[in-house]
Amino acid sequence: MTEFRNLIGGEPTARANGKTFDDLNPADTRDIVGRFPASAAADARAAVAAAAAAFDAWRKTPISRRAKVLLGAADYLETNAARFAEEMTREEGKSIALAKDEFLRSAQTLRFYAIEGQSYGGESFPQDDADMLVYTAREPLGVVAVITPWNFPVSIPARKIAPALITGNAVVFKPSSDAPLSGYRLTEALVQAGLPKGVLNFITGSAGEIGAVITSSPTVRAISFTGSTAAGEEIHRSAPLTTRTQMELGGKNPLIVMEDADLDKAVDLAVKGGLSLTGQACTGTSRLLVHAAVKREFSERLLAKLKTLRIGSGMDPKNDLGPIATKKQLETVLRYADIGKQEAKHLYGGERLRGEHYEHGYFVSPAVFTDVTQAMRIAREEIFGPVLAIIEVASYEDAIAKANDSEYGLCAAIATRNPRYMHRFAQDIQAGTVKINRTTTGNLVNAPFGGLKRSSTASFRESGRSGLEFYTQIKTVYQGI
Ligand code: NAD
Repeated sequence: MTEFRNLIGGEPTARANGKTFDDLNPADTRDIVGRFPASAAADARAAVAAAAAAFDAWRKTPISRRAKVLLGAADYLETNAARFAEEMTREEGKSIALAKDEFLRSAQTLRFYAIEGQSYGGESFPQDDADMLVYTAREPLGVVAVITPWNFPVSIPARKIAPALITGNAVVFKPSSDAPLSGYRLTEALVQAGLPKGVLNFITGSAGEIGAVITSSPTVRAISFTGSTAAGEEIHRSAPLTTRTQMELGGKNPLIVMEDADLDKAVDLAVKGGLSLTGQACTGTSRLLVHAAVKREFSERLLAKLKTLRIGSGMDPKNDLGPIATKKQLETVLRYADIGKQEAKHLYGGERLRGEHYEHGYFVSPAVFTDVTQAMRIAREEIFGPVLAIIEVASYEDAIAKANDSEYGLCAAIATRNPRYMHRFAQDIQAGTVKINRTTTGNLVNAPFGGLKRSSTASFRESGRSGLEFYTQIKTVYQGI
């Protein structure tokens, strides 16, 4: 078992008093994947100070050289993807194929921003004075904080850190304590590609000890956070007024199944969208709004499909569902399975799995409830696990009204063959990402991503070219002679 360090000002540092925490394998908690510093407030202050000290030289570094670092890091992630994927599967639980894909996608993200960032500039403005030039410059903000969850432990950090670095910012990066190793590998990739000391500072530890020190620091000009709505709203509220925030938060994503849908395809969308990552994707499907005319048939086919799924360690490519990633999350899922049994009709699953392969891991069978109504907690609250709620709808209008009756608005999907439903759905649904005959999960590196309502603070989108906007400020220059 390896003991990892923070990286502050380019130096590997342990917490002053040596306190650590263990990164555990949720498929077998006897397996300690790594040991990391349980950092203290002083470490967090040191990380912010190191970033501040490195900022000026980095912002003045030619953009082609900044791009070269990102490109070098992309190559490193790609070369080591198989090894890093094993580590990710061990620390987070997802399948080895998904873990590898996540490292490859992160390499693609680094390359995208290396190129796109080089043509991201200001505008010039026509005016009457021939001896004057008026233009805007896009400048970096300074020190930015990147705080990330455990479910996409490398791709979410990559899509925040890459646009921050290419635009000339210095970063303090705090990954989730439940999967810090994959973020460490991203940091390692950038460092070995030539990132100067202090430009990216990696620090681990609890939100309670180091979170507020970072987010309340007036030196930190922006916070890009992905995680729960409660934590994001708390950070957004308590950040200094001058701090820009980008909050990617929870979801309660619907899949509408219309009366004309290809039902096998709809089942596939429900299973892949709802249960890949064992339901632990912010974009995961959790509400199935099914037209009354096909509800029975759809439910039968869904159950038949669920019975074929293999549950077990993500290391075995034959398994379809891995473990729940953390003990806390396991308890949440089992609690909601109980709530579902009390308030709705229980169709399938929701049990903790015991026995040989499951004994030391956090395994549950996927749960399905039907006759779910809008007022029920399993229809309203984010569970973040393999729990599906079937809600009957009478018409397209009823489906849209029920889908939109949620405080969240991250992603939404519809299964239909009717072009009129497709077109209207894209306009009527309150979601930042809209999918037609596609899973709610999955988004492109080069397209904007974010939610509406309590799923995002919404002012800045991540991913794509729009991901660069958050990390820059506009300066307007009037240049005479
Ligand atoms: P979480 O909110 O518990 O933690 C996320 C990160 O924030 C962790 O690094 C944590 O240590 C840190 N943190 C928590 N409170 C903090 C505070 N007060 N100050 C500073 N840092 C703090 O979330 P999680 O359990 O790791 O992840 C699951 C959640 O993430 C789900 O709600 C899911 O919907 C959401 N998520 C959203 C997206 C998206 O793009 N919208 C993507 C993935 C996950």
